[in-house]
Amino acid sequence: MANPLFDHLFGRHAGKTTPFLHLPDGRTVTHDAFLKQAARLAHVLSDRGLRPGDRLAVQVEKSPEALALYAACMQAGIVFLPLNTGYTVEELAYFIENSGAALVVCDGAGAAGLAPLCERLGAGLETLNADDTGTLIGRLSEMPDSFDTVERAEEDLAALLYTSGTTGRSKGAMLTQRNLLSNAETLVEYWRFTADDVLLHALPIFHTHGLFVATNVTLAAGGAMIFLPKFDLDAILDGMPKATAMMGVPTFYTRLLGDPRFTRDLARHMRLFISGSAPLLADTHREFEARTGHRILERYGMTETNMNTSNPYEGERRAGTVGFPLPGVEVKITDPATGRTLPPGEVGQIEVRGPNVFKGYWNMPEKTREELRENGFFITGDLGLIDDRGYVQIVGRNKDLIISGGYNIYPKEIELVLDAQPGVLESAVIGVPHADFGETVLGLIVPRPGETPDLDAIAEAARASLARFKHPRKLIVVDALPRNTMGKVQKNLLREAYADSFA
Ligand code: ATP
Ligand code: MG
Repeated sequence: MANPLFDHLFGRHAGKTTPFLHLPDGRTVTHDAFLKQAARLAHVLSDRGLRPGDRLAVQVEKSPEALALYAACMQAGIVFLPLNTGYTVEELAYFIENSGAALVVCDGAGAAGLAPLCERLGAGLETLNADDTGTLIGRLSEMPDSFDTVERAEEDLAALLYTSGTTGRSKGAMLTQRNLLSNAETLVEYWRFTADDVLLHALPIFHTHGLFVATNVTLAAGGAMIFLPKFDLDAILDGMPKATAMMGVPTFYTRLLGDPRFTRDLARHMRLFISGSAPLLADTHREFEARTGHRILERYGMTETNMNTSNPYEGERRAGTVGFPLPGVEVKITDPATGRTLPPGEVGQIEVRGPNVFKGYWNMPEKTREELRENGFFITGDLGLIDDRGYVQIVGRNKDLIISGGYNIYPKEIELVLDAQPGVLESAVIGVPHADFGETVLGLIVPRPGETPDLDAIAEAARASLARFKHPRKLIVVDALPRNTMGKVQKNLLREAYADSFA
């Protein structure tokens, strides 16, 4: 019997008393204890009627048991479907209905709200709380601590992971065993992870970054994690001297830099800091190196593909780039209109192909056809270029590109200018319909707390540093930018809200 993903990530640690999870309360969960808990959970899920291929939707706080639920699904051949803890019942209705989940596991506090929905959709409902209680836990003690691993093939689905919903409605990416396993093994080697590594883990485990990158890499290497429920500066600073590596989103790094307790000495034991999920500012990269001596390693990936590119472990980690295509992953830049491959240095859409690329969107054959070419290349929806030394640079999202009077305008270039002006906390530049130009540039400005930015001076600064066709036609001050639960700015909502500005 074989189950490649389970066998390679989990099964081979059976019987090992080596540490897997270090918890904030001082407890340590060994590999063996974790696997026994996963086996008991696999029994509970099977008893509950779940069969290989069924989807288990999970919306719970981060905890060792929540992670064991992932392992249990892999062992029982159940498709794991983690959901953002920020989603409301209304939002959950879409995911549960779209996925046809057979069972939903939620926090005890959310059960009453979800019960009518689960009933209507014919899904079961169980609870799991962060403090190790809940209906699912209640049954565990009666269960055997070993489970006959269900046979699975590399092309079988391991997980159904929904995209963050930044550019529109979230799509369920069908990820196979091979997608996840190949990427984990590639990253272990590329980033030099070993059984001696201790990863500082403060990311959520419902997103590809914290779940498939951080956790799978640690499991594949046989290392341990300092497993924190969320990003908490004190806990991070406390854990860092015992850790060797950290994976974070850019705000982790800016928040660390904002704390004077974060010093070169505190980071002495660390060998690697990795950043992804959103662009890391070149300034942060430089400031981090000046403070700690470490150069942050930035990489690029997404729900549908896991990781595609990475800056090198040895060799130059270039600020403002996401590095080279990973071994086995092809990256090309194409003309969005013709699909033709563009030469180095030219901006186009980023396409990727490799064993990491998903099987398609669940229940969305049309979307799948639009974005996944027959030759295996996935059109990521991001725009970028490959520079003269082979480093990939991301310029922004295809959907955010502004075309005004026939010119392509990349919002990021304008946002960088606006962000640098006095009194500006952050900005978003969007294209809105315009009778003469097709689209024109609109800049939304969020002031720093208590400050009133001078819009005339900002417009003047933009005129001084940008070509005429890129000048924002209008600047508007707003309190905040709309963000989804992953903290990503939702420009589609801004475009809708300001669509009539020049109509
Ligand atoms: P949706 O597809 O539903 O609109 P989403 O694309 O934000 O949502 P994710 O899969 O969570 O959902 O995010 C992947 C995206 O995050 C990438 O396509 C890219 O735009 C962005 N991203 C990831 N890593 C980086 C990085 N290092 N630099 C810049 N952008 C990044
Ligand atoms: Mg996306």
